[in-house]
Amino acid sequence: MAPRLIDPFARAITYLRVSVTDRCDFRCVYCMAENMTFLPKKELLTLEELDRMCSAFIGLGVEKLRITGGEPLVRKGIMTFFNSMSRHLDSGALQELTLTTNGSQLARYADDLYAAGVRRVNVSLDTLDEDKFARVTRWGRLPQVLNGLDAAQRAGLRIKINAVALKGFNEDELFTMTEWCASRGMDLTWIEVMPMGDLGNEDRVGQYWSLKDVRAMLAEQYTVTDLAERSGGPARYVRLEETGQKIGFITPLSHNFCESCNRVRMTCTGELYMCLGQEDRADLRAPLRDSPEDDAPLIAAIHKAIGLKPKGHDFDYSRQRADGQVSRHMSHTGG
Ligand code: SAM
Ligand code: SF4
Repeated sequence: MAPRLIDPFARAITYLRVSVTDRCDFRCVYCMAENMTFLPKKELLTLEELDRMCSAFIGLGVEKLRITGGEPLVRKGIMTFFNSMSRHLDSGALQELTLTTNGSQLARYADDLYAAGVRRVNVSLDTLDEDKFARVTRWGRLPQVLNGLDAAQRAGLRIKINAVALKGFNEDELFTMTEWCASRGMDLTWIEVMPMGDLGNEDRVGQYWSLKDVRAMLAEQYTVTDLAERSGGPARYVRLEETGQKIGFITPLSHNFCESCNRVRMTCTGELYMCLGQEDRADLRAPLRDSPEDDAPLIAAIHKAIGLKPKGHDFDYSRQRADGQVSRHMSHTGG
């Protein structure tokens, strides 16, 4: 068996996030410009290549696979990929196959996803107000996403809502969203907005809203208990005793999780980013395409890349020009 993936800081890499497309049917203001230019098709890994790539990682000890994008469910033929990945769930090599989605296509795919072995999905939703939703996603329509959530719950999928915390935009919905999620049995995670991409201020619907403030606001209304649970990523969790609900906080800007980092991210072109906050990356597409019959060069390239995983990242809002800023969009690395 090939040796497992252990980085230079003794962290086992067991979690792979894979972007399967850079395209999306929304244009969220903090994520994409309205007139995005997308990659030519030949740059993208084919569904077969995605399968080979993910299977190689699973063979090296990756136990959790999260499919993201862009919007993963707009990739043509994506269910073929999910269906094919389910063999790794059946074999026990993969513990979880999941995805992050904007929810627009869930009504169509929820049953198929469940049949492929998906049990949980993260759905991004920043507001429950139709007009605000249209403003923040530019092209999205709230009822379509709400239908998708209904279908997903009917299909038996557990849902976690991810909301980007935006000052002056969804601050006033903190309690409405909390109660709404509680009433539907959904967990809720707040994400701090990150300095990604090249959006000018005119495109920002809101500004940085510190999750410390979100937590403090919640504590005014609820009994908030810190949970010891760690995901190996930037999320911290609390329980609201009155609703029994789990609330997460993702603060990618603080350096408080790097030591337990268990993950790497792959773009839809087969570039492996070893750290969300660093530009360091390794091209895995060339070793994959250059050796169609033999995975050995790919596996060697994966090991070499993991050997370069940095200790931590370098986002920092306190510096003048957001020095830690990385120029790529979240839709490229897949959040
Ligand atoms: N399209 C899918 C979706 O929206 O869930 C998956 C890809 S999206 C890039 C993944 C996550 O990144 C979403 O929850 C989105 O809100 C978040 N995101 C995008 N840009 C962000 C930014 N600048 N700061 C913080 N979160 C961001
Ligand atoms: Fe699309 Fe997700 Fe980015 Fe919104 S956050 S534009 S839904 S990829």
